[in-house]
Amino acid sequence: MTRRTLTILGSTGSIGTQTLDVIQRSADDWTIKWLTCNTRVEELADQVRQFRPHGVAIREEWARSRFLELLPEFTGPVLCGEEGLCEAAADTDNDIVMSAMVGFSGVVPTLAAIRSGHVVGLANKETLVSAGGVIMAAARDHGATLLAVDSEHSAILQCLCGEQLADVERFVITASGGPFRALPQDELQHVTVDRALRHPNWSMGRKITIDSATLMNKGFEVMEARWLFDIDVDRIDVVIHPQSIIHSMVEFVDGSVKAQMGLPSMLVPIQYALTYPRHAPLDTPRMNLAEIGTLTFESPDLERFPCLRIAYEALRAEGNSPCIVNAANEIAVSRFLDGHIPFTSIPAIIEKTLSRMNHVDETSLSDILATDAEARRIAADIDA
Ligand code: NDP
Ligand code: MG
Repeated sequence: MTRRTLTILGSTGSIGTQTLDVIQRSADDWTIKWLTCNTRVEELADQVRQFRPHGVAIREEWARSRFLELLPEFTGPVLCGEEGLCEAAADTDNDIVMSAMVGFSGVVPTLAAIRSGHVVGLANKETLVSAGGVIMAAARDHGATLLAVDSEHSAILQCLCGEQLADVERFVITASGGPFRALPQDELQHVTVDRALRHPNWSMGRKITIDSATLMNKGFEVMEARWLFDIDVDRIDVVIHPQSIIHSMVEFVDGSVKAQMGLPSMLVPIQYALTYPRHAPLDTPRMNLAEIGTLTFESPDLERFPCLRIAYEALRAEGNSPCIVNAANEIAVSRFLDGHIPFTSIPAIIEKTLSRMNHVDETSLSDILATDAEARRIAADIDA
């Protein structure tokens, strides 16, 4: 079996730890090159003891000092800051880089991995949301392969195997609907952070869990699909499917529809990105349709969940609009998580930020960095 080298950007998060879980279960021979985190160095130190990477990169300087105290016996490089993350991402020894940081923080390190021509497993969807044009152009220019890790996009990738994109009529992305799927509009305003963090089907990081509750996560996934598969926004539909058994579907021009199914588990799409285009054995619970009994579907309610509408509108507006939405959403979600604003202010802050920003048509990386910074500043100042 060939030995392959993996670097994980964001190894201490939900996707990062599940990637290490897949590696541990794998019969393949993996070398871990770099593990990275923001501040959770206790978790990082445990991972280093267990997986013995070549080196680590830690975003915050104080956390780097703490890591060195925790693990004085570690002799590998301990890099710091965004430069450190980029150095790890760009390492020429990497065969695969798992991009599993959260939010806009992933853009520059993911771009560094792409510019080195690596295979990139892309969990960090905000990278494509904010900088889709720049990222896809860099992947083309540098011969990098982007493989979806998000379960919906992994489903689409699997449905497209052996198919021609020209034969596709549309994608149907499924959404669980989140914890507030059936909650009346007037109650949404009063939901607590704890309640919003209780997702019915998936256990994930805090930010994406709130994005799932507002349906912004689904809007981001529409954007992600647009870029990953180069398909027009008007050919991407969303359907609510509360059981999360069908992970997404592809409809072809003859009306035939392929769906990818399975019990909800991120281990499957994570492993598929690592073994693509092969499926490898994985000891996960198996789907029993007779036990599940019923699969249901409904249209998303854009009145109660305006974030999905906002995302579609921003994608159609192109330019820097998706980047503004992403930045304002990150600020609004963190204000909600801190208990400072009600749940329903999240879309309100995003729309106000959009209305106060200038639209830019063509966006280079420097435009995107400027838009992100400005949108954050505006979103943080909006009264809610
Ligand atoms: P988590 O919050 O659980 O983990 C995020 C990781 O990124 C952690 O390792 C964190 O380090 C690191 N990180 C956060 N901010 C920074 C920063 N500024 N600089 C450097 N590192 C940073 O997130 P998830 O694993 O849930 O999500 C990761 C990405 O995957 C997101 O884009 C999400 O949308 C996507 N995704 C997640 C799914 C899931 O099931 N969780 C499913 C599909 C997509 P530290 O631990 O030190 O804070
Ligand atoms: Mg998803």
